[in-house]
Amino acid sequence: MKPASPECPSCRRAVLLRPQNPCFPFCSERCRAIDLGRWLGGEYRIPVTSPDEDDDGDTAPERPPHDA
Ligand SMILES: [Zn+2]
Repeated sequence: MKPASPECPSCRRAVLLRPQNPCFPFCSERCRAIDLGRWLGGEYRIPVTSPDEDDDGDTAPERPPHDA
């Protein structure tokens, strides 16, 4: 009995099994990230900035007008 060779859900290439392949069932970390990206929003993109770090609230307060 031959073991079935699984395919990567992302690129359809043959993948190695678990002990040799920590990214199973994907062939590589990249394919795993691609698939995860599809799930999360459709594109392969990992957000690096925190959502609440916007351009407001975090800026230093302006100096009070110095009306001499
Ligand atoms: Zn793949």
